[in-house]
Amino acid sequence: MSETTATALIVAAGRGARAGAGGPKQYRPLAGSAVIAHTLAAFLRHPRIDAVRVVIHRDDRDLYAEAIGALAGQDKLLAPVIGGAERQDSVRLGLESLHDPAPGRVLIHDAARPFVPADVIDRVIDGLDHADGAIAALPVFDTIKKADGADHPCIADTVPRDRLWRAQTPQGFAFAAIRKAHAAAAGRAMTDDAAVAEAAGLNVRLVAGSPDNMKITQAEDFGMAETLLGRRAVAYEYRSGHGYDVHQFEPGEAAILCGVAIPHDRKLKGHSDADAGMHALTDAILGAIGEGDIGDHFPPSDPQWKGAPSRIFLEKARDLVSARGGAIVNCDVTLICEAPRIGPHRAAMRGALAEILLVDLDRVSVKATTSEKLGFTGRDEGLAAIATATVRLPGEA
Ligand code: MG
Repeated sequence: MSETTATALIVAAGRGARAGAGGPKQYRPLAGSAVIAHTLAAFLRHPRIDAVRVVIHRDDRDLYAEAIGALAGQDKLLAPVIGGAERQDSVRLGLESLHDPAPGRVLIHDAARPFVPADVIDRVIDGLDHADGAIAALPVFDTIKKADGADHPCIADTVPRDRLWRAQTPQGFAFAAIRKAHAAAAGRAMTDDAAVAEAAGLNVRLVAGSPDNMKITQAEDFGMAETLLGRRAVAYEYRSGHGYDVHQFEPGEAAILCGVAIPHDRKLKGHSDADAGMHALTDAILGAIGEGDIGDHFPPSDPQWKGAPSRIFLEKARDLVSARGGAIVNCDVTLICEAPRIGPHRAAMRGALAEILLVDLDRVSVKATTSEKLGFTGRDEGLAAIATATVRLPGEA
């Protein structure tokens, strides 16, 4: 049976001597946050990564805590573990720390590759449907020369390049297999985890990496990384969508609106919990990314959604945005009804929506109005909700 998710193991225990003075490169600032914060964010926001474990050097506990900042509050981010003398030791210790329960699949990634695209993570996970391992890699297009070993080297040979690939990370594996392979390889130095897998006889697939997935190795790489980030910043595009929903009142004890149960002498009638505010907002987000509406993703004809809490609809819309490498910029919901009174519950509603969308409170607005006793809302027969949402997506550039 194929699994759709994986745990990420981020290796951050290196000293980074080649990147020059200024401490380990993974903790140095890059466009306002530490290199490792960019790397962790890429995995934490990916919907198919269910947990992230970081392996750090024993001297770097404070550097790590400072570098990750607000990411520390994310449920997916496990406490860091301490690595060993060499990268291979750190990976082995990191793998051994993953138990209770052990993951089915693990993606091993270098902290110094902060720009790993979401689609590369998807391809590595998908590759594991077909092999024990799958690594991100790029075919070699430059002609490869082998040197003769002299102080002023000359060419000894030209290496045929037609089957050569450059290995990147993430490198993904069936967890139990790579854990065993690393235990067996302890003390024998190998340059990457795929080599450890190969030595154990595992088959490892090559899947397409990305030229953007650069490794920060030398001091000069920071300049190139800033340029790459700058190009990405201008390549973002912003999209908006709107949603509208109506539900009728029927006898009951509470109306659920924007995730908050408001005591009332009636409830909203519907197939799910009938949270019109959350439905309108879900449709607004789906509209912004051209993903249809709630009914397309959760058909009302399907009995499994009967009485369902509407947060699962909103979570789905949120995950579809993050699967594209996007983010929700802000949203605004207006509830239109004569009763119940919304005002006392607005703060709780904003909090509930912000918590589901994983955004700051000031990006979520909830407002209410009456319709001056006009129309179906004015006659108190039902409630209407309208919503707008703005999302940021990586551009096509
Ligand atoms: Mg509805």
